[in-house]
Amino acid sequence: AGRLSGKVALISGGAGGCGLAASELFAREGAKVGIVDLPRSKGEEVAAAIRANGGEAIFAPADVSVSAEVSSAVKAVEAAFGAITVLFNHAGILAVGPFLETEEDEWDRLMAVNVRSMFLMTKAVLPGMLAAGGGSIVCTSSISAVAATPMEVLYDTTKGACHMFARAIAVEFRDRGIRCNAVCPGFIATDHGKRELVGLSKYGVDVSEAAIAAQQGRMCDPKEVANAALFLASDEASFVNGTHLFVDNCFTAV
Ligand code: NAD
Repeated sequence: AGRLSGKVALISGGAGGCGLAASELFAREGAKVGIVDLPRSKGEEVAAAIRANGGEAIFAPADVSVSAEVSSAVKAVEAAFGAITVLFNHAGILAVGPFLETEEDEWDRLMAVNVRSMFLMTKAVLPGMLAAGGGSIVCTSSISAVAATPMEVLYDTTKGACHMFARAIAVEFRDRGIRCNAVCPGFIATDHGKRELVGLSKYGVDVSEAAIAAQQGRMCDPKEVANAALFLASDEASFVNGTHLFVDNCFTAV
């Protein structure tokens, strides 16, 4: 039996980057997986590939910042598989640029996709999770929640919010069988990570291999984030609650 057998997992941003690695890994570990991602994403293909490998997965398209889309995606996953017992709040986007050039609509959009999404998704999933007797929520924070990167005031602010959201949900619901933790990756070799390095170098921030190596040794592999999320999602982490698991090879330790 897999480490998530008997669980129903919803993974937001599950069609790309680390979310894709988590969709594949959670399915291999026996979870029934609801992949929530943008309609234009590869969600359908990813779900079909998991099914072709003997796993169980469906694609439920949604923009995670839009309440009505979140609730229909959650309902679709519940209708297919039953109550959601693992929620991986992973979808998120990046913004890089000088603070004084940040426009209000960009600020609102990043807050909506990175932070409001966690509120909407968690609120939609919790009633079913509570009725099922409990579950595990994992939120994707970042090293950016505690270590500010130049040119990323907006992004860092959203991740600071994700960081505390995970802890505050844990405190409010720990007496009802709900655990909520955050996974906090360093620079990951995904589209997001690569865009970030290109964006930062445009503004003269040193993201040379040497600079990254001094901090981290190398970019984080999406699978390494998925493995950390798997642990937090599984019953192996039964007494791990309200915590932040850094996957950053000492980035924040030095
Ligand atoms: P990615 O850009 O490779 O993949 C993100 C996925 O989320 C994509 O499939 C995309 O379609 C989906 N998505 C984007 N906006 C969405 C929306 N509004 N609704 C639904 N789905 C949406 O990114 P990744 O590297 O896997 O990063 C995802 C998460 O990891 C984010 O929360 C990000 O802040 C965090 N993170 C990334 C890094 C990094 O270096 N890549 C580091 C730390 C934290």
